Amino acid sequence: MQLDILSDKPTTEVGSYFISNYPPFSAWVSGQADAVEGVLGEASAAPGRVTAVGPVPGNGRTAASPPAGSAPDESASSGSASVAPVSGPPPLGLYLHIPFCRKRCHFCYFRVYTDKNSSDVDAYIDALSHEVALYARRERFRDRPFDFVYFGGGTPSFLSNEQLRLLVDRINEHWHWDHAREVTFECEPGTLKESKLEVIRDIGVTRLSLGVEHFDDETLALNGRAHKSPEIFRAYDWARRVGFPQINIDLIAGMVGDREDRWHAAVERALELSPDSLTVYQMEVPHNTTLARDAKAHGQAPPVAGWSTKRAWVDAAFRRFEQAGYVVSSAYTVVKPGPRAAFRYRDALWRGADMVGTGVASFSHVAGVHFQNADRWEDYLDSIASDHLPISRAFVMTPPQRFIRELILQLKLGRIDLAYFRDKFGTQTVSERQPILEALVAEGFACFTGVDAFELTRAGLLRVDALLPRFFEPQFRGVRYT
Ligand code: SF4
Repeated sequence: MQLDILSDKPTTEVGSYFISNYPPFSAWVSGQADAVEGVLGEASAAPGRVTAVGPVPGNGRTAASPPAGSAPDESASSGSASVAPVSGPPPLGLYLHIPFCRKRCHFCYFRVYTDKNSSDVDAYIDALSHEVALYARRERFRDRPFDFVYFGGGTPSFLSNEQLRLLVDRINEHWHWDHAREVTFECEPGTLKESKLEVIRDIGVTRLSLGVEHFDDETLALNGRAHKSPEIFRAYDWARRVGFPQINIDLIAGMVGDREDRWHAAVERALELSPDSLTVYQMEVPHNTTLARDAKAHGQAPPVAGWSTKRAWVDAAFRRFEQAGYVVSSAYTVVKPGPRAAFRYRDALWRGADMVGTGVASFSHVAGVHFQNADRWEDYLDSIASDHLPISRAFVMTPPQRFIRELILQLKLGRIDLAYFRDKFGTQTVSERQPILEALVAEGFACFTGVDAFELTRAGLLRVDALLPRFFEPQFRGVRYT
């Protein structure tokens, strides 16, 4: 389904506009899950510990030897286009899904639980660390330490200090992130205490991401958020005092109850905190959310501002942040220039890094194969308890699909280097998309700024997710994303 997000309607229809991967998740099938075994390679007899191998400065690759069979990206491919050989394995990341929240936000469609008790959480931590151990045994990951780690959710900061330490100690028995360039940790402000932030810092977190979303208390309440604004300010002060290399704040433009004055006030509050970076999303109403169900029950559109309004608000926010010295680094982020501006997780993934996604319903990407874990609590825990990876569906990408995936993800940065794509995927793949690039220029959404430099204009950047399906293969245009 393609949303009409380019319209000037005053409301937002139900559906997902945000494109986080390619091909769409709805194309991933259980029938391809067996392919994952081939990609991961043999399991060693007993869990071992991935030994320390430092990253090579500047090249984004580890110094580890490539795992067996790792001319890798080819091994999983079935398409016909040629792919430039890659020397050594790509960077490797770990995603840990912590699926617990204090309350379910009305716009949330993630696999999260609000009813689990402490022993449930303990059982999940057991399973999560065991899952990491199962991956650590596989040939594909031999001598490959993590380049980046991401604690996502759900709410990672829902875990107690003891649970956090236990989880990390257990993982460290099998794999480590001592040399990771970035460890990101998502927090809900109301779950934080100064002592918890000290634990989060001590486990190696370099990038703390605070899910603020808005500063207006009525707006926060209308959207079912668990926190209020005083908790945001308190948590932020503690985080600064405890000391993290980078603090990011998430905002959402156009939540239920949001208005022009409230949005501009939220931008000013965010600026007062002076975070190292901000992530700014435009509110969407995916299927399987409380908001979507309410809209359907009442036969009305969700009470969320229209797309043109949200674009105008994000545009105004970007301009205000730019005035204050920030730079726009993607369709959704502004950063203070300097050493705290990086977002390794995003940049590595959008350039084809491998990532092991652990936890219920988590997504992985290894050597050109996408796969997802079981999305039911019992199925996930049962599978791990019987020493099986809980993979429920997968998609083996062809080389052209890997090209499209990287192209559309990197377009979200607002600029792409066509030479990178020619070198990696071949001249023909790029030249075949030339007419689409030229059409975007003709429509005012992009321009060529050098021989190989293609940039989105601000108008293009603010609606980039609506432009990306033009690059899709025909069979994936107009399909539901989830
Ligand atoms: S805090 Fe995040 S993951 Fe949890 S319910 Fe809200 S939107 Fe969903």
